[in-house]
Amino acid sequence: MDKKEILKEFSSDPDRYYNVKLFQEQGFVRKACSKCGRFFWTLNSGRDLCPDDADDTYSFIGEPPTTKRFDYTQAWKQVEEFFVKNNHTSVSRYPVVCRWRDDLYFTIASVVDFQRVMGSKVVFEFPANPLVVPQTCLRFKDLENVGVTGRHFSSFCMIGQHSIPDSQGYWKDECVDLDFRLLTDQFGIKKEEVVFVEDVWAGGGSFGPSLEYFVRGLELGNAVFTEFQGELGQHTTLDQRVIDMGAGLERFAWITMGTPTAYDCCFGPINQKLFEKIGIDSDSEILRKYFTEIAKALDNFEDLNDVRRHAIKTAGVTDDQLNKMITPLEGVYLIADHLRTLIFAITDGALPSNVGGGYNLRMMLRRINGTINRLNLKLNIDELIDAHIDYLKDTYPELDEKREDVKQILKLESTRYEESKVHMKKKAEKIREKGVPSVDELITLYESDGITPEYLKEVNAISEIPSSFYSKLSDLHQSEKKKTITELPLEKLPETETLFYKDDPMEFEAKVIKVFDDQVILDKTSFYARGGGQEPDFGSIAGFNVINVDKHADIIVHQLEDGVPKEGDTVSCKVDETRRVNITKNHTSTHIINASSRGVLGSWIWQHSAFKDDDHARLDITHHSSLTDEQVKQIEDAANSMVKQNLSVNIDYYDRGTAEQKYGFRIYQGGVVPVKSVRIVSIEDQDIEACGGTHVKKTGDIELIKITKTKRIQDGVVRIEFVSGPTAFQYVKDQEEESKKQAEENIAKQTLEKQREENKQKAREQIPILLEKILGGESGELDEITVKNKICFTASEQYDDYFHQNFGKKLITKDSKAAFCGIFESGPTVRIMVHAGEESGVNSGEIAKEIASILGGSGGGDAKFAQGGGKDTSKKDEAIAKAKSMILG
Ligand SMILES: [Zn+2]
Ligand SMILES: [Zn+2]
Repeated sequence: MDKKEILKEFSSDPDRYYNVKLFQEQGFVRKACSKCGRFFWTLNSGRDLCPDDADDTYSFIGEPPTTKRFDYTQAWKQVEEFFVKNNHTSVSRYPVVCRWRDDLYFTIASVVDFQRVMGSKVVFEFPANPLVVPQTCLRFKDLENVGVTGRHFSSFCMIGQHSIPDSQGYWKDECVDLDFRLLTDQFGIKKEEVVFVEDVWAGGGSFGPSLEYFVRGLELGNAVFTEFQGELGQHTTLDQRVIDMGAGLERFAWITMGTPTAYDCCFGPINQKLFEKIGIDSDSEILRKYFTEIAKALDNFEDLNDVRRHAIKTAGVTDDQLNKMITPLEGVYLIADHLRTLIFAITDGALPSNVGGGYNLRMMLRRINGTINRLNLKLNIDELIDAHIDYLKDTYPELDEKREDVKQILKLESTRYEESKVHMKKKAEKIREKGVPSVDELITLYESDGITPEYLKEVNAISEIPSSFYSKLSDLHQSEKKKTITELPLEKLPETETLFYKDDPMEFEAKVIKVFDDQVILDKTSFYARGGGQEPDFGSIAGFNVINVDKHADIIVHQLEDGVPKEGDTVSCKVDETRRVNITKNHTSTHIINASSRGVLGSWIWQHSAFKDDDHARLDITHHSSLTDEQVKQIEDAANSMVKQNLSVNIDYYDRGTAEQKYGFRIYQGGVVPVKSVRIVSIEDQDIEACGGTHVKKTGDIELIKITKTKRIQDGVVRIEFVSGPTAFQYVKDQEEESKKQAEENIAKQTLEKQREENKQKAREQIPILLEKILGGESGELDEITVKNKICFTASEQYDDYFHQNFGKKLITKDSKAAFCGIFESGPTVRIMVHAGEESGVNSGEIAKEIASILGGSGGGDAKFAQGGGKDTSKKDEAIAKAKSMILG
């Protein structure tokens, strides 16, 4: 939808869309900006320019328009107090990891908290009306601006004021009146300072007018009245109109403090701590001048570097001031901002990685590390985390609980980054030699080697990051493969009654509603359809085998083998109970392993995905490293302890909003639930999840859980494979047999080894006897040595390195016509050793070289003595035959 068109339409009828009661009561006048033409409302009839174009823009820096001073946390207290006083419920923030929407990784606006997607429709679910919420929002679009512009953050607190116009809530008049009084009464800003600008909002199929409010050019908030749906002209009024007022808490603090940047009043004691370490004085006139110029020029240039250059020139910043003050300051702000975002994200269960939303988190930590290195700062990240959390914990107590987890994750990530640098440096050098890589090559570099384009830019391997890199990368990570289910014409069929959610009979009678080839639809069924990672039930319908069961919306489709019943027939159905029971045990075990992993590893553990069949199951969890044997054992022990405690598994249905309020967003382990009534599966208070699967009644029914394998399958995801119930017992039995077999084999191997050693020892003792016989002229087979006129060859296993060395040497010393060639195994190598007397006619070097090459290795030496070997044991026989013929002829 074209926003310009809508604005034109709305602004042509201001009385209907914008002229609220407050404007009439207070005597606001409506004006058009003499520069850009935008319409705005003001009490100052002399004002001709909109807030973006006026001269007073950003003049609050150094000279705030109120005598009240509130820093970040104090500003929220003021906002909260005001709205609560005016009958709003103050709601705690929702997680920044947006688990209730599968189209968003992170919460990007306060209104997202209350949006639920049902099919293709967005519905609103408000826990109170009207309400106010201090919602932390993450946005990564402007990362390069953070620290530089004075007002861009990677996360910020959106003050969300939301209302539905019903018996409790209100609409435009009261909303704008409240926002105006918040600024004037609560924050002490003069009425004449407040300017409202006409605008519109459109998205997700709906739209409406909005009033942005500014003070001295700073946009403090935007009251959106979501009112219509459809295309402009043919639009209709929404059943559920919503007020979505979002304001930046950081800006409320900034306008009262008048500091050079918004960062100076929003990170509490962090900045001061950092300034002291670096030794900069942030309270100087030059900073006020510089950042005012930055703020004013920001929209006038395309390139941020040009904005910077302009501000340096206009504010008269010297090179010395630039290097000793501005540059380090930008670094300090970046570190404080990025760290705050990471604290919120990790607290809410996100992990830095190179997939999905984790990508931005890793990027931010690398920017922090890069800045620390570049500015040569001696910083203790743990101290900074403490300072942030201590400052924020009154408003966000949940941060305090996860303090140690945040430290642990960031430490691990930083160490990893340092470790990968050597490798990254080598790669970067190669890239520099090869020339500019394509976007696809950059993506491969990132995905297979973890090398970010930021790093390549930092080390000058590339001059800029192609703009399509991020969009392409995010496309790659967002398109999930969905299993294609064959489309069936099911429109007019009734919903299948799901017996597995009721009495769950293993044998039942049902009516055949519809048949498509080998697919059968019944009026009711106990066959569990594939879903939520749980595999379908098998069994029989009218004597035909059921080989697959899928769910198409509300209709369950059974796939049969070797025939189908007739439509209209009443048929007897039988579910394969053993299979179902085993799948069920594995499903409950998945929940147990999830809870155990979280307990053993940390709060960041979430289910990434899961699969439950009758004889095996797996759970993929979000975790930063491979699991150690010790951790696997602890998880297995914790799981079996839950089994032993014989905990009750309860299933209850809740209204979605109630479930979220009662249990939090942890319930969405398996992803978003697109229904209003949520099925909650709880294993007492140990694990509570929204889940549609089948479960045992008591954990004791599972009897035993065994983890069979774990593997880090991708960055940030670890797979745990396991078995439960009878399969687990079978697994234990197999394991025992296997280890018994192993032990027996080891003993046999040791005995053989011992035997060989003894033989070798014996052989050594034979040296003088053999020498005497051979030198005495005996020929033929002597103790597995082939002898022909003092030329000897052996490949017997009883002779070792020592024997060949000593026997050969002694033989040819005593008789220059003699020669000795031996082939033997030594570790993984087949070796050859040749000794030849001067008159023997044998060339040791030639033989060793030839034989070694057959064995896939190399050999060397001279005519008298040579050796070599290779690892290709499959060629041993060939080597023996060749060597024998070379030496014996
Ligand atoms: Zn203007
Ligand atoms: Zn489940």
